[in-house]
Amino acid sequence: MAWQGIFGVDEVASRFARANRRRRLGGSFLFIGPGGVGKRTFAFALAKTLLCSRVSSYSEVETSESETRRDSAAELERFQPCRKCENCKQFEWNVDSGAKVPTHPDFHYVCKPADKSLLPLELLIGEKDARSRSGLCFELNQTAFMGGRKIAVVDDADFFNLEGANALLKTLEEPPPRSIIILIGTSAAKQLPTIRSRCQTFRFNSLSNDALAEILLRQKKVETPEEAAAIARLSAGSLEEAEKALDADFSAFQQILFTELSRSPMKGVEFAGKLCEFVDAAGKEAVLRRRRLRNAFQESLAFFRAAFLALEEPDKNPVGKYAPYLSQIVENGRTSSRDALDCVELTLDAMEKVDRNVNLPYVVEAWAYDLAALSR
Ligand SMILES: [Zn+2]
Repeated sequence: MAWQGIFGVDEVASRFARANRRRRLGGSFLFIGPGGVGKRTFAFALAKTLLCSRVSSYSEVETSESETRRDSAAELERFQPCRKCENCKQFEWNVDSGAKVPTHPDFHYVCKPADKSLLPLELLIGEKDARSRSGLCFELNQTAFMGGRKIAVVDDADFFNLEGANALLKTLEEPPPRSIIILIGTSAAKQLPTIRSRCQTFRFNSLSNDALAEILLRQKKVETPEEAAAIARLSAGSLEEAEKALDADFSAFQQILFTELSRSPMKGVEFAGKLCEFVDAAGKEAVLRRRRLRNAFQESLAFFRAAFLALEEPDKNPVGKYAPYLSQIVENGRTSSRDALDCVELTLDAMEKVDRNVNLPYVVEAWAYDLAALSR
């Protein structure tokens, strides 16, 4: 099974479940593993579970006989948030929603801001003028708002500086009563020995291709199982890598696409060449090239629909990512809203051919030449 739908964490989850049941849960943990394999997702789901009133008050004294009979599947089945108590309701975080951070008052999360090279000390022990009166360590030492556990997740633990790590040592050594701190890093070698020695370490492995493909489908990042499998094969068991593979180059190509589409007249041959080159660069698997072309067509479709609206109401200033291109189309006055509708038709037609597995260069060329003819 996949505990709470998260792949590859059953063993770690059952260790937490067992420790929780026996009331022997430690306070300081270090999660180690490559990026994009589900460490943060698991940490959030674990926090939700451990905060749940039903789970946190659950314990069972047992004989050694009942212990051996208990299998880990049953253990995991019991180790679930009830979704009814006040704690569960507060923790409005949904495993499928991705990066959203939970909102529970006794849950704290810090990570390295994108523009910083290290985890800022302030996040751990407060701003200079409020040292030790705010920040993560301070929060963990306060009485729990909901009267239960307090849980902190420190992401990007690879990026502690010495001062930050030192500030955290005391909290890791002796976590305040009923508080749990989880550090997330990519490799044990990147953690300071002083931190490593104070935490119980759990390792997370890369996802299998099948698991990764299933996640991609479930999160609707791809449309077909074939696409999911092809992206998974390129991504070395990491969802992060898969996301890069899905979006890489596409946003850069958008600029080229919109520039070409807003030319008047359009340059059919040149445009077809650029688009074919972009589609080919998706890789040697046909399913990936088809996916990329379908994306390009979908973007073009949205673009022509926006162009139609802009041409219908030329007095309104266009907004959004198409705005500069649409203004240009409206200004040069050669295109009518009727033309934009014809472009929509041509694009829908081309998309249908892609889905029918017509030869891709042929679809691209026919589409680009027809658009160019319309723009003359
Ligand atoms: Zn609950």
